[in-house]
Amino acid sequence: MIRYIPFLLGLIFCSACSNKTIVPQVDIKIPFEKNDNQTATYHEAIDFYKKMANQYPEIQITEYGLSDVGEPIHAVVLSKSKIFDPNQLKQEGKVILMVNNAIHAGEPCGVDATMLLTRDLMKKEVNQQLLDKAVVVIIPFYNIGGGLNRGAFSRTNQNGPLEHGFRGNAKNLDLNRDFIKVDSKNAIAFTRIFQKWKPDIFLDNHTSNGADYQYTMTMIATQHNKLGKTLGNFQQTEMLPTLYKSMEAKNWEMTPYVYARKTPDDGIAAFLDLPRYSSGYAALFNTLSFIPETHMLKPFKDRVKSTYAFMETVLEYIDKNAEKIKTIRHKAIKETRTKQTFDINWTMDIEKVDSFLFKGYEAKYKPSLISGQDRLYYDHNAPYSKYISFYNHYKATATIDKPKAYIVSQAYSTVIDRLKWNGVEMQQLKENKTFEVEMYRIEDHQTGKSPYEGHYLHKKIKVKKLRMDKTFRKGDYLIYTNQSGNRYIIETLEPHAPDSFFAWNFFDSILQQKEYFSPYVFEDLAIQYLEDDPKLKQDLEKKKKENEAFAKNAYAQLEYIYKRSPHYENTHKLYPVARLVE
Ligand SMILES: [Zn+2]
Repeated sequence: MIRYIPFLLGLIFCSACSNKTIVPQVDIKIPFEKNDNQTATYHEAIDFYKKMANQYPEIQITEYGLSDVGEPIHAVVLSKSKIFDPNQLKQEGKVILMVNNAIHAGEPCGVDATMLLTRDLMKKEVNQQLLDKAVVVIIPFYNIGGGLNRGAFSRTNQNGPLEHGFRGNAKNLDLNRDFIKVDSKNAIAFTRIFQKWKPDIFLDNHTSNGADYQYTMTMIATQHNKLGKTLGNFQQTEMLPTLYKSMEAKNWEMTPYVYARKTPDDGIAAFLDLPRYSSGYAALFNTLSFIPETHMLKPFKDRVKSTYAFMETVLEYIDKNAEKIKTIRHKAIKETRTKQTFDINWTMDIEKVDSFLFKGYEAKYKPSLISGQDRLYYDHNAPYSKYISFYNHYKATATIDKPKAYIVSQAYSTVIDRLKWNGVEMQQLKENKTFEVEMYRIEDHQTGKSPYEGHYLHKKIKVKKLRMDKTFRKGDYLIYTNQSGNRYIIETLEPHAPDSFFAWNFFDSILQQKEYFSPYVFEDLAIQYLEDDPKLKQDLEKKKKENEAFAKNAYAQLEYIYKRSPHYENTHKLYPVARLVE
């Protein structure tokens, strides 16, 4: 495989420092321009941005800590005003666009497209106008470990590039499931970049899997019902239609991402991007998110060009609508701070079906030469345009009243770390204090039988709310729910939310009972409890009558009494995050 060896350009240093040497402008070519079926390596990409930053004072490149593989994660900022302070830029009304590349390092169109776009934005006077109102924050190469694990085969169904990285990172994690649990150093660096810049718009560049159809570019917009009314309506009725039209005008007509059960003819569904995914995470902070997914079977050069076109289209949209974007986000953030109820889980609303004109290929079947059974193929000689169903609506299945504050024990330091990384404002108690609070008992949950992203994820979590006095210690954390990060706080701390810290195993220790009883010793005590509590005795007899197995199980009957006695530990399955409601 041909490797592009970058030529050295004298001194290269992080442009975060201000005393730049002025270097004569050199036309920097990227590997893709030498061979349009070639993608830049991590080192080539970083080298390119360092050279660019060296030449253009409008570019800053900064390291944000190491990735799991030991190489640093960078953010590159394009700021026409040469100001790189997010607060100052926001005060000036700039719209922050954040672009993430190679989270799946086998899907690298964004790496090359963003390099081309960066150079064009700097070089061409006419393009520079696109940076009048926008500041672009680029992660040039997010999954570095995956990128260094380079080969030609891991994207079995993908048409180029010749070599590409691997989906898993250095710890074999899919980083696009890691935004809440943050098991990777990559995700820590991402969180730092995201929370520093708090982008208005976020793009995460990918390549699709699945069906075949005519489009090169497919689009996952963050799920609009989950995003919330204010931003969701804006996204669906104003922003997305304009982006679709602009892309069509550039001859890169898009389709919503083709998430089909069998073939697109049966209709397609919108993806529920829970907070574990990049766009779902961004939605927690009222960031408008788009996941461009170029079609795997189209040539790499077209995938790069359409990714470029989409990013350019978003910049054009920002140029025309900067004030509107700022105003609508400001409104959404204010609502998040002040509203009382929050949806925490969703399901597809199959009653509400949209439809749109889809350009596909006829799905046909022929006998497989391997199994003899029917195999699917898409007939390129039979293209079609027809209306297909689009299940694009979700409805809430769980809603909570937010408490005035949550209280988290300092013992759960891994949870506290994540809250801190995400800019959650917390105060530590100055002395031990007893509060009347609401607590949850975990009544039921299901746990996956095989590991998922390094965890045994809990699902279908059922809780029972209890009221009690509880003493917290000096140093425990009080978290008020009047923050712009309310959705992050609530969707991670309410245990029955699908991407809660509880679901991701951060509180598994409470699920294990620590003390038990010896039946032969407890028996006499149990008799005493039954004598003292006729209601308990009655309940026990009733259960014996109704449940034959229970009636035959001596231990189960003693355990029934034990769990209703003061000997049973109150902390078992008691979710330890308190809700302060008054
Ligand atoms: Zn992907």
